[in-house]
Amino acid sequence: LDKAFSCMVRCRIPGGRMTAEQLVAQLDLCDELGNATLKITTRQTLQLHGILKSDLRETIHRINKINLSTLAACGDVNRNIMCCPAKRVGTVHEELQRLSQELTVALAPQTRGYHELWVTDLETGEKTLEGGGPPTKEEEPLYGPRYLPRKFKIGIALPEDNCIDIYTQDLGFLAVVREGKVIGYNVSVGGGMGMTPSAAKTFPALAQRMAFARPEQVVDVAKAVIGVQRDFGNREDRKVARMKYLIADWGIEKFRSKVEEYFGEALADCTEDDVHGFDDHMGWQEQGDGLWSYGLNVENGRLYDNDQVQLKAAFRAIAAELNPAIRLTSHQSIIFCDIQPEQKDRLLEIIRAHGVRLSEDTSNVRRWSMACVGLPTCGLSVTESERIMPKFMDQLEGPLAKLGMSHEKFTVRMTGCPNGCARPYNADLALVGQTKGKYRVFAGGALLGTRLNYQYKEKVAEADVPSELIAVFAAFKANRQDNETMGDFCARVGRDELERMAEEAPKP
Ligand code: SF4
Repeated sequence: LDKAFSCMVRCRIPGGRMTAEQLVAQLDLCDELGNATLKITTRQTLQLHGILKSDLRETIHRINKINLSTLAACGDVNRNIMCCPAKRVGTVHEELQRLSQELTVALAPQTRGYHELWVTDLETGEKTLEGGGPPTKEEEPLYGPRYLPRKFKIGIALPEDNCIDIYTQDLGFLAVVREGKVIGYNVSVGGGMGMTPSAAKTFPALAQRMAFARPEQVVDVAKAVIGVQRDFGNREDRKVARMKYLIADWGIEKFRSKVEEYFGEALADCTEDDVHGFDDHMGWQEQGDGLWSYGLNVENGRLYDNDQVQLKAAFRAIAAELNPAIRLTSHQSIIFCDIQPEQKDRLLEIIRAHGVRLSEDTSNVRRWSMACVGLPTCGLSVTESERIMPKFMDQLEGPLAKLGMSHEKFTVRMTGCPNGCARPYNADLALVGQTKGKYRVFAGGALLGTRLNYQYKEKVAEADVPSELIAVFAAFKANRQDNETMGDFCARVGRDELERMAEEAPKP
């Protein structure tokens, strides 16, 4: 008997846009071929877990059949492009979503291998699906024969809404809007969360602002940036192969000059527009066309059914009765779009009837938290992550209420290893798996995603994590300055002072 290898299968869903029918088809796949759960990821896409190797072809085939794809969802190419998921009809949001699609097509690998392996009939080589992704060629005009040195991530955001965490991306496009029109984008380069603590040469980095691109320049600027990383990124040492290391090595000016050389002309400097807001799009929001969107917080993005909570059944019922357009958020949650005013109550009724907590009834600390897959599913994980996070939240909500801080907004992010899939290193507070049952605790990032945090403690045992965080909350309560956020406070006082204050502050 061969071993029963099982795989994770991730989709590419630009900007998190999908239909209710596609969502139901993914739920069918997780029930029929996966582990009966579905994960909304931190990059606005879906992951199936526990797909047996022998079922891979059927799984990917069926994904293509519903006009989704897994091509370039993983690998050393441009991956799923993130974009503010809010549906706003007739506004710049539509332009950003359109751009995410244009870039997805322009930067897609052209390989025929994907379709030959997964989409055509294995015996005859005949094309077996309509659609199934872009036409493919023998050559890779953008990626060349060796592809990129490492994975590559792109995000598109608005200054007033950095919900996709633009500065954690290899390449970011921040819309510059004048009189309701996008006149171009401030281009940032070199973000990336992953690190290897034992290798001092590795580090998390926020992207740096590089130049301004007019709308018609964006695709070629993206190709130029990717071309520079393809040709000059480190191919000897995979640990330092992300573009952030090339930029750290060269400096932003040299990097920009090389991008301009590849692009073919000089670029303008960035405008003063920069990130100043963040919206997780939970609860009801008007779309501008008389219809409504409802953002439902999904804890750590995991869709499952059990005796108390039936998220999958709720989503199936909503799809069957209301057929909403779907948007996935970068905080692992979901937005049901195109809801008629008279359907609003019914949507909430369906959610409640399945034991699912509404976003309005979810505490801020839980709503603004996220966790990666972690144990037992991710092979790289050294600790628990999404399985333990809800229990931590249970232990944090009461003390926060006693401190009178339930209304505070701050991010708590958790990963089962230092790779940083849940973007821990710019969170207000973060927990990163260090060794079996022990975590590094980070503090001092920012809800806006504009500041890296610092390591506050290490080797904190799982059982001690809640009390360590509660001590930080108490220190914040006792020592904060006017309007200071959790992350601002931790950044201002620094590690040693925070530790002293956390010891001395009265605990709830
Ligand atoms: Fe796995 Fe580490 Fe990524 Fe978590 S951060 S999903 S443990 S690789």
